[in-house]
Amino acid sequence: MPEAALRHAAEAYTDALVAFCQRLIRTPSPPGDEAGIAALVRAEMAALAYDDVWADAAGNVVGVVRGGGGRSLMLNTHLDHVDAGDPGRWPVPPFEGRVTGGAVWGRGAMDIKGPLACQVYAPAVLRRAGITPPGDLYVTAVVMEEVGGLGAQVLVDGVRPAFAVVGEATGCRLTRGHRGRVELQARFVGRSGHASAPERAANPHFAVARFLQALEGLPMAKSATFGSATVAPTLIRSDQASANVIPEQLVVTLDWRTVPEEGADAVVARVAALAAGAADSGVTAEVRVPVVSRTSYTGLTRDCPSVHPAFELPVTHPLVRAAREALTEIYAEPVPVDLWRFATDGGHFMAAGIPTIGFGPGDEHLAHTTEERIDLDQLARGLLGNAALCARLGEVAD
Ligand SMILES: [Zn+2]
Repeated sequence: MPEAALRHAAEAYTDALVAFCQRLIRTPSPPGDEAGIAALVRAEMAALAYDDVWADAAGNVVGVVRGGGGRSLMLNTHLDHVDAGDPGRWPVPPFEGRVTGGAVWGRGAMDIKGPLACQVYAPAVLRRAGITPPGDLYVTAVVMEEVGGLGAQVLVDGVRPAFAVVGEATGCRLTRGHRGRVELQARFVGRSGHASAPERAANPHFAVARFLQALEGLPMAKSATFGSATVAPTLIRSDQASANVIPEQLVVTLDWRTVPEEGADAVVARVAALAAGAADSGVTAEVRVPVVSRTSYTGLTRDCPSVHPAFELPVTHPLVRAAREALTEIYAEPVPVDLWRFATDGGHFMAAGIPTIGFGPGDEHLAHTTEERIDLDQLARGLLGNAALCARLGEVAD
């Protein structure tokens, strides 16, 4: 790979890249309200001479740059961001896109508008360097990632690349997987009654107590890569607001972080058995994964179960190896292979049969904080790394 040509071409685009990142931050895009930013990304792709640009039924943006006869590669991020909260708590206004202290600041700067900008510009760097990508490049930015992944689920109906790179922040290192997340609701239904006469009621509190105690002692699935799965009870909701009434229903919410060895169905079955064991005469238990109906800005509605699959590619997987080589060569220093702490849309892509890795600029500790920013040198490094991946990964055999 002609590294010098890529470095040169990436440098030439640095100013335009930073300016695009600022424009992205100045275009707020909460989940379900991504029309403005989608138009902005499409226009930039068109200006950068992509071969094809469209938005799918969910409003996900897809840009294509045609390559040689090799494998197709998708670079992926999302268009939405979490709420900025009270702007007064930010050191800079969250939607101004201000550059100060060597960084671009604002909501979404590193999650995920900086990485998005780098991905959009990567094919342009290749073209300027005179490099035809080995296979077709798909640059995709999906809607509603922050609220369950409606965009990713619709995207894979229409775009099935051979490989994917998810651009969530890795500090320009490589990642090869993460634990998954399953949300569960255990509902205990008894019989309501006056608190002065508990013998006439069936109080679900005692079943919940037994359930939680059993949960604490439950052996968790183990993974050589990720260590142990974990479970945290997070909410208990009662159908009662009165202190002198025995409730009919209690719903316990669990946040279960899964390892690839144990899927969502197995987790639900285990928790259902535990809940059934804790229920007693007069109280029944049922366990479900909550499903939320979401509607995208284009009006498309889908049921989104609260499941983010775990995924893991072995260090020896050809995609991981090739990506590590390409990054090590372009940066002229060894690039470590890490794991993400948090769940991404990568689990949805892997579940659709697309081998996926992670690579993106930025420090993930700043995600969802009022200190959110992305360093200018991370942006430059992210652009160069993405270009190197585009130049190489289409050559990877299965
Ligand atoms: Zn993100």
